[in-house]
Amino acid sequence: MSRTPRPLLTLLLAAVPLAVVTVGVAPAASGAPRERAKVPVAEGTGGAVATVDADATRVGIGVLRAGGNAVDAAVASAAALGVTEPYSAGVGGGGFLVYYEAATGQVHTIDGRETAPQAMRADSFVEGGAAIPFGEAVSSGLSVGVPGTPETWDVALERWGTLDLAQALRPASRLARSGFRVDQTFRDQTAANAARFDDFTSTAELFLPGGRPHPVGSWFRNRDLADTYDLMGREGVAVLYSGEVGDDVVATVQDPPVADDVTRTVRPGLMTTADLAAYTAPLRQPTAVGYRGLDVYGMAPPSSGGSTVGEALNILEALPATTSRAQVEHHYLEASALAFADRNRYVGDADAVDVPLAELLSDGFAAERACLVRPDQALAKPLAPGVPDGSYGGCDDTGAVGLAQAPGQSTTHLTTADADGNVVAYTLTIEQTGGAGIVVPGRGFLLNNELTDFNFTDTQGGADPNLPGPGKRPRSSMAPTIVLADGEPLLALGSPGGATIITTVLQTLVNRVDLGMSLPEALAAPRASQRNSAAVQAEPGFDRTGLQERGHAFTTTAEIGAATGVELLPDGRLQAVAEPTRRGGGSAMVVTASP
Ligand code: GLU
Repeated sequence: MSRTPRPLLTLLLAAVPLAVVTVGVAPAASGAPRERAKVPVAEGTGGAVATVDADATRVGIGVLRAGGNAVDAAVASAAALGVTEPYSAGVGGGGFLVYYEAATGQVHTIDGRETAPQAMRADSFVEGGAAIPFGEAVSSGLSVGVPGTPETWDVALERWGTLDLAQALRPASRLARSGFRVDQTFRDQTAANAARFDDFTSTAELFLPGGRPHPVGSWFRNRDLADTYDLMGREGVAVLYSGEVGDDVVATVQDPPVADDVTRTVRPGLMTTADLAAYTAPLRQPTAVGYRGLDVYGMAPPSSGGSTVGEALNILEALPATTSRAQVEHHYLEASALAFADRNRYVGDADAVDVPLAELLSDGFAAERACLVRPDQALAKPLAPGVPDGSYGGCDDTGAVGLAQAPGQSTTHLTTADADGNVVAYTLTIEQTGGAGIVVPGRGFLLNNELTDFNFTDTQGGADPNLPGPGKRPRSSMAPTIVLADGEPLLALGSPGGATIITTVLQTLVNRVDLGMSLPEALAAPRASQRNSAAVQAEPGFDRTGLQERGHAFTTTAEIGAATGVELLPDGRLQAVAEPTRRGGGSAMVVTASP
């Protein structure tokens, strides 16, 4: 079903780029596009947008100013992120959108996760009896899942938006055509991927002109992507799922455009045009748990985000209340490890395997898991999973099992809110920074390598819920989250970071709710991530006092996550919040700023 475009809004949106460049701009050399300053916190009314990128935030704010709603702004900002953050997001990837609909008070979610081709089998990543090297799977056609992002945008706009796809994509198309200034983060991400980008002719052409990354301060334009957006606007997402862009995607997956001198083993993929045609982005029931009087909604399987954050919150609530920072952090680390043990054992694509979601999120199971936690001593990790079978008695400490851990990857999260009280938390990704490293020739976007989120071999003694399978969606950690207080939105947030997404969202909620921080403080605070492994990964600034004494071991990592969020303040104003520093800092804006 397509909506009739609204003539007035079309007219207003035509002015969006102008509005976009008139706020907070730095002086520009004549003729050059203008550079935009970014701030991590903004408060005011009329709507709010927080993303990792100033251009993407301004696009969303422009849409809100022109009368669009939070869903319109989310799609327009996401499309803009496809331009300015092409290594984290784009039409070649997937994601999960969580939406609070003010008119009904309901929380909805869209599952835009990539799917495996029908030809994929449990052993598709196995050769000669062993898993293929992860590093080889990363840059391959084999790891490319059917993209879910275009369908997510279409479903979101059809159901809840006021714009049609062409209108929502227009600002991003203009941005791709006019360009953006390359910053240090973009340059560093290109350089870090240069070896594999160079192995694909189409990728080298776009991101390594003359064999080198675009320098910091130069203008990066992506006309092919602008054309793809325009085509999608004119012809709809069918152009990808059953049209010429889809044909190019399949041709690229099946026969990646490798350079003549490539030494890397680049495996072709299994995707066909029938796989594209079969793709859907279904609505799923959100996960829902109560936490200290609040209602926390998240993303259900195939993401493990909602179930793992939710289970950990339930465990925290079952533990004795405390205001001691060290005790709160100790509980947070232990609850996270327990929830990760259960996530690894039980969570996968619920359309393909049985996931005991209701039990994982039950208070009885949480109480059983919580009674393992000791007040003054960290448990030895990794912990064994529990048994979410509906029959809960005492503690059942069955010892340790070895569990695979996913490395931190790259993705992006955006949060929007509008004047009517609608809120969107949307995390989207192409999996690793740079995805599969393969640009679809002539189309201007990278393909995802999301199928590397499957376990290549059984990690769970015959019961791995996350092995590859035909049409299956790999387990995700993405955790777009909306928190309601008395049925009204309090805050929304999410983050990139692979499996650390879950701990970043959980820790931010603990900081905000249990340690009394403001949302900007909670997002900025140094992070620690315990994903059921021997040592806690922590940023250098994380205060380990009182935790080492309890037996927690630490390794140090420079940065975890890059969250964004929005909070509805008690006086009715919106507070848009982005990371102040991580990944170069994000961008928060409101429609009408107020002190
Ligand atoms: N592919 C990952 C997931 O779905 C996200 C990657 C990342 O956040 O960097 O969990």
